[in-house]
Amino acid sequence: MKELLTGNEAVARGAYEAGVTVASAYPGTPSTEILENVAKYKEIYSEWAPNEKVALEVSIGASIAGARSLAAMKHVGVNVAADPLFTVAYTGVNGGLVLVTADDPGMHSSQNEQDNRNYAKFAKIPMLEPSDSQEAKEFTKIAYKISEEFDVPILLRLTTRICHSKGIVELEDREQVEIKEYVKNIPKYVATPANGRKLHVKLEEKLKKLEEFSNNTSLNKVEWYDKKIGIITSSVSYQYAKEVFGDNASYLKLGFTYPLPKEKIKKFANEVEKLYVIEELDPYLETEIKAMGIEVIGKELIPRVGELNPDIIAKTLLGENKEVIEKNEEKVVGRPPTMCAGCPHRGLFYELSKKKNVVVTGDIGCYTLGSAPPLEAMDTCICMGASISAGHGFSKAAQVNGRETKVFSVIGDSTFFHSGITGLIDIVYNKGNAATIILDNRITGMTGHQHNPGTGYTLMGEVTNEIDIVKICEAIGVKHIEVINPLNLKETKAAIDKAMEVDEPMVIITKWPCVLKKSPNEEIEEYGLADRKICEVDQDKCKKCKMCLKVGCPAISFDSEKGAIIDDTMCVGCDVCLQVCPFDAIVKVGE
Ligand code: SF4
Ligand code: SF4
Repeated sequence: MKELLTGNEAVARGAYEAGVTVASAYPGTPSTEILENVAKYKEIYSEWAPNEKVALEVSIGASIAGARSLAAMKHVGVNVAADPLFTVAYTGVNGGLVLVTADDPGMHSSQNEQDNRNYAKFAKIPMLEPSDSQEAKEFTKIAYKISEEFDVPILLRLTTRICHSKGIVELEDREQVEIKEYVKNIPKYVATPANGRKLHVKLEEKLKKLEEFSNNTSLNKVEWYDKKIGIITSSVSYQYAKEVFGDNASYLKLGFTYPLPKEKIKKFANEVEKLYVIEELDPYLETEIKAMGIEVIGKELIPRVGELNPDIIAKTLLGENKEVIEKNEEKVVGRPPTMCAGCPHRGLFYELSKKKNVVVTGDIGCYTLGSAPPLEAMDTCICMGASISAGHGFSKAAQVNGRETKVFSVIGDSTFFHSGITGLIDIVYNKGNAATIILDNRITGMTGHQHNPGTGYTLMGEVTNEIDIVKICEAIGVKHIEVINPLNLKETKAAIDKAMEVDEPMVIITKWPCVLKKSPNEEIEEYGLADRKICEVDQDKCKKCKMCLKVGCPAISFDSEKGAIIDDTMCVGCDVCLQVCPFDAIVKVGE
């Protein structure tokens, strides 16, 4: 049977067919749908871990127990998981272990575009790179075989185009894989220095054998056409190269990209007149090939920043300019990302934006949009969890240097569980006075509504223990904790004002469900979501002062003749603009 699958769905299918029984991940674009689809297979225990390090460690534990296991994450998530990753390369596996890294060239939804192929070499972990959905499934299955045969974890590297593009995939039955016996083996699994030294030697031996495998495997294949041009490529760049050069070049398509098949590369290079390396981001292949003394053309022409596409390759390598349709600036309206109409974060950022002499350290989530105009209520955003710790550092620097700046750190509920808790411990332990605002919208919002330890449900849909953020903060030792409704501007302002005065750690929890969330009945009742009425502008009262535009709601527009206008198809009746209008011109429809 064949199905049209995205790369992410295909990896999930591959894990199912490979007999995987344990999978753990933290959501992050473009990797999120991998675990969402794995969870559809009831044969696999699937979970959202609080962060990527935990996800990988869960998978390592399952592997040592003897089961085939999977961990999935976005590229920056591998940074979080790097600690166990480098050591599991040494210990090796029992049941097959695959770590999927979903890289994001072009930064469609990421803070950087790091090339995680470098992790394979750095951590000494074999890497596979599929170039379409069929390969995403096949390579996942093959990865488990290689993992078990060579006693190594495998890095399966995808990119956004592979993750989210659809292709036809041939489905096969699930392999019935018995859990392997677990035998206590201290020299292998206890990474003390004495054991680690021996394990490193073993790993280097394994890598030699893996290079031999790389030279012989059909994962690295040559396609002979015209030998005037040879192209070495991998991943989605292979598809682009084929589209541009067709039969006018020969290809060495690499699917197994660490360790590289050096012999195969040398032979291929000897047969062609001119050699290109076509790859996205870093010159990962190019550097290695050049180090072998082979002349290639690559990054001196092909950009190392952003995504590639066939047009870029045609332009840079062949000097061809493809015809493009110029956009009509008058007709095509810019649509910068913005918080949704009715977003519960809007009221908080509106109030923060009015404060003078405050610094707001931000974090990774929808609420990073608090930095966008007109609110612009954010000063920094570095990585998951950094809002609290960087805020503490900023605050301490101000304190010791005699500068009076109040710092507010804003962080989402899921991000707080991910890596914010340790930052808050740091503040309490080291007597900081930065205020932490936890934006609890009852779900992991930005990645598309995944459950987290605070929502009360698991990835597999079971009701579970709900981790109480207030109790965590109390247990850490925070004395000042306020739980507020962020859509109530008076309440929000009062909490911020209190934090301005308090010279101790303080936590404000803004608690309101994400406006796009499909809330369960008890939540609809608790927050009165069913009774909300939308707003409209009483045109007779509107003084065209534009104050309501300052909340940045996409449902509000302005007409120089009529004044403010609320789009009734977008408004959800959150009442934030209603509280801002100084002339009571915004009213509830029907009131
Ligand atoms: S804040 Fe009120 S008066 Fe001012 S433009 Fe908006 S609706 Fe009109
Ligand atoms: S009430 Fe105002 S701020 Fe809220 S969704 Fe409607 S228009 Fe936007």
